[in-house]
Amino acid sequence: MNNPSPNAQEKFLPVIELEIARRRYKYNYNLIPPIAMVDDLPSGENFSRGWLRLLAEELKVVFVNTLITNRGNYGSLKVNDDVRNFILEVVLKGAIPFQLGLIAGLLQILPQLILQGTSQNYKEIDDLFFAVLESSGLSIFGNSLNRILNHLSQGHPTGHVKDLQEYDKLFPQIELPEIADNFQSDEVFAYTRVAGYNPVMIKQVNELGDRFPVTETQYQEVMGSDDSLAAAGEEGRLYLADYGILEGAVNGTFPQYQKYIYAPLALFAVPKGTDSSRLMRPVAIQCGQHPEDLPICTPNSGKYAWLFAKTIVEIADANFHEAVTHLGRTHLFVGPFAIATHRQLLDNHPVSLLLRPHFEGTLAINNAAQSSLIAPGGGVDQLLSATIDNSRILAAVGVQSYGFNEAMLSNQLQKRGVDDTATLPVYPYRDDALLIWDAIRQWVCDYLNIHYKNDEDVLNDTALQHWAQEVSAYDGGRVPDFGQTDGRIETLDYLIDALTLIIFTASAQHAAVNFPQKGMMSYPPAVPLAGYQPASVLNGEVSQQDYLNLLPPLEQVQTQLNLVSLLGSVYYNRLGDYPENHFSDSSVTSALQRFKTKLEEIEQTIKQRNQNRPTYEYLLPSKIPQSINI
Ligand code: MN
Repeated sequence: MNNPSPNAQEKFLPVIELEIARRRYKYNYNLIPPIAMVDDLPSGENFSRGWLRLLAEELKVVFVNTLITNRGNYGSLKVNDDVRNFILEVVLKGAIPFQLGLIAGLLQILPQLILQGTSQNYKEIDDLFFAVLESSGLSIFGNSLNRILNHLSQGHPTGHVKDLQEYDKLFPQIELPEIADNFQSDEVFAYTRVAGYNPVMIKQVNELGDRFPVTETQYQEVMGSDDSLAAAGEEGRLYLADYGILEGAVNGTFPQYQKYIYAPLALFAVPKGTDSSRLMRPVAIQCGQHPEDLPICTPNSGKYAWLFAKTIVEIADANFHEAVTHLGRTHLFVGPFAIATHRQLLDNHPVSLLLRPHFEGTLAINNAAQSSLIAPGGGVDQLLSATIDNSRILAAVGVQSYGFNEAMLSNQLQKRGVDDTATLPVYPYRDDALLIWDAIRQWVCDYLNIHYKNDEDVLNDTALQHWAQEVSAYDGGRVPDFGQTDGRIETLDYLIDALTLIIFTASAQHAAVNFPQKGMMSYPPAVPLAGYQPASVLNGEVSQQDYLNLLPPLEQVQTQLNLVSLLGSVYYNRLGDYPENHFSDSSVTSALQRFKTKLEEIEQTIKQRNQNRPTYEYLLPSKIPQSINI
């Protein structure tokens, strides 16, 4: 009687296993209210040593670059001395607390540092940061990492520049991104909308209405007298970037500047014709939602007025990007699926087995984000336009307004009216993302077909149905519009689409919006995270200095450069690379091989495409990690 029958045991053990998981993975809705996040980070979710190593390397790069800038010894042989002295200084001044792991790390570095100085590639600094990260973690407040960074900022250049070239001095070691050479051109400005850091903003419009009264004359001065605004609208060649969601946001002041957020409208048009290489062009910008408040700027408004207006669009775009597109619609979108998967599916459940590698590091990075990066006084508070409360609300709005079923790539493209290659021929994000989407979908389809023969099998998988219910439940993942009737998963086809969207968002979509942080946003004049002048400057004559005063002052530029360089440099694992022997079922092997072969083909296709368009490399499969971990 005391020994349960084998049958009962089989039923009993999974219940215990899931009960344990549910205690470890608890929901918390107050970290970024009201979004579902994990409460205490379960120990198994911590960053791996391999990941910490990668981050330490990137911290080193940023550290050396900053040290050289701030100590003013660039170009001299004293760089090595500076690095050595700095490390000794932070140790002697007690900036590094007495922690066993850290001291052990330091003891390995210090003797060599004192006797021989630093090596050519500053390997000692990697080791130092690795020791710091391993012993005290990522939290930026009150810990060693923060103290080191504070110490590092001493002597930094400050204030607004008189000349754009002054920014170049902040890049003694880190290479200036290519965009530094051409960001002021209209072509790059338009291309950024379809192949940049936030390539999801433009919508096709047929007319502009009273809110944005661009005239035929203004249109024709840009697009030529043989074209017209009315014809372009009718033919589907008008595209609008509308930042209305930012209207009414509260201007931030942290740490010590009045910053501004804007809600501009920007009109783009595709020239008429049939040539498939026709690039979209910027036509007009209104830097707020109300035409009575601000003028409509065009390329003919004068060099600095136009530049000022274009920069305001980038600032709005960057604020939308970080809060909504990046944090909200990738990091926070995926988080609830990671939690629900642990709570409702056993580790050997086929759906859990497929998804878990795509969640590695996600709960850890989201946890680090809410506790430091987007906490009051953190990097986002310092750098973005709005107050930190406002940025957090914006992220939550971004999540809540992103219905799961509408988030499917083809639905997104259709909804914005950008799915037709005849009217919008050059849209690298769209074209490359569709390739990756299809490849992931095929892999998910092949994989699920091994485990589910038909819709019946899906409907009868009780654990899976519980998972689906929890994902959308108010006391669960709170994912809006998930599932079919009553939130159920009724068909195999739907399950395939749903898992494709989760994996696509965790891999490709995040890569597309995360890594341009290094490639484009690390040069703040091209993409400032905040504006430092009100849009009303446009009501008068705009001078070069007005434009320069709109851009972030040097100390803010240095912080932006450091933060986004770090966030945009950590490539940990790669799409399709599941852990060895992860799938014990041998029939999965050939399906996985097919997926990997497809990704290699796509790599070649995108390289080929880049011969015929301005380069877009953010969706090369080799640059897409498996999961959101940075
Ligand atoms: Mn990220």
